[in-house]
Amino acid sequence: MAGQPEIKASSCAKCGACTPVCPVFQSTGRESHTARGKLHLFKAGASFDSAYFNDLLAKCLQCGACDAACPRNLRPSEDILAWRARQPFGRDPHGFAKFLTKKVLATPLLQEGGSKALTTLLATLPKASGLRKRLDLLAPALAAPPSLPALPQKGSPRILAYFPGCLAQHLYKDITKATTILAGHCGFELHTPAALTCCGLASHVSGSEQEAKAAARRNIKAFAEGAAGPILTSCASCTSHLKSYPTLFTDDPEMHDKAVAFASRIQEFSTFFLDREGLSTSSPAETLYYHDPCHLRFGPCQVTKEPRQLLTQLNGAPPLSLPAQCCGQGGLFHLTNPDISRNIFSRALAPLAELSQGLVVTTCSGCLLQWQQGLARAKSPLRAEHLAVFLAKIIRD
Ligand code: SF4
Ligand code: SF4
Repeated sequence: MAGQPEIKASSCAKCGACTPVCPVFQSTGRESHTARGKLHLFKAGASFDSAYFNDLLAKCLQCGACDAACPRNLRPSEDILAWRARQPFGRDPHGFAKFLTKKVLATPLLQEGGSKALTTLLATLPKASGLRKRLDLLAPALAAPPSLPALPQKGSPRILAYFPGCLAQHLYKDITKATTILAGHCGFELHTPAALTCCGLASHVSGSEQEAKAAARRNIKAFAEGAAGPILTSCASCTSHLKSYPTLFTDDPEMHDKAVAFASRIQEFSTFFLDREGLSTSSPAETLYYHDPCHLRFGPCQVTKEPRQLLTQLNGAPPLSLPAQCCGQGGLFHLTNPDISRNIFSRALAPLAELSQGLVVTTCSGCLLQWQQGLARAKSPLRAEHLAVFLAKIIRD
């Protein structure tokens, strides 16, 4: 068929190692939802004329678990993206929802306006209002912003570049504030370039290569013109995608070099603060669980020990173990496949379902949103917080 992407994974051995690790398969039990099933269809002559195939392309969170499990070092998630990139707009059953979301993510004014409108509504709606309850699910961070301590006053702080990500900039502003407080205790003042935009992950995973490249170009330029040195990040998904920028420019040597230099500056939140001078706590240890974001478990980061070590260092005890399980958010996936997304979340919640109290901590704004919405829907007494917010609340001068 004309327009078919090259099948890089044509040497799939059909071994099935990617099957049990796939969160979508774990939820639906359907072979066609696995990486192996999709690769088989790609090779067997899948067609955008088929409604089933067009919908199947959306049945992937781009979590990277199949890539990590493949003994042949294939990267099925990239093959799925290559097909998404060629999918005609009118054939994607979720095309309009994706288009709208990407437009909002690429337009800070729209995000800020939406966030302000939600805040105003939540402040004025009566507690018993049905609309308020629905908005609480949509905007848990706005509904109950945590109380954080004041910024520490330390003389002559060093400037540190910071990439907060869209959710922390416009919805979970407490993450940005908490990260600023922690950095302040360590003698840094955070600087976020005004020209920065969305990291571009949403565009990338929906196959919009040009949009993803445009976002990357803008961010690379914005940070090249700002403070030198590391770029601190506080969202696992942004971190993973920012570190992957060089893969967007394999056909453009000049941009590739700039992207490599940019990616080498990206410093994930917990690796930055681990063992850093200036952070100490006095609070008694709180019992908590750490949720591993897929974007730190797989892909270019592979950061799983450091958040636990940081929590052990500052909370006085290691977080309790949770099975490594995708939460089902997956960026646009939770919008396009809400039932599967909720089912995947229920698997993540299952080990904690009987608890009467507890705190789940994570380092991804998307996972946090999924956990807070999921816990509210399940009427669970558990809470979920970003690691930065948890630490900022227990930090002392
Ligand atoms: S990237 Fe994740 S959701 Fe997509 S096929 Fe691979 S394991 Fe399944
Ligand atoms: S793990 Fe790799 S080789 Fe095995 S079925 Fe999946 S994609 Fe094919």
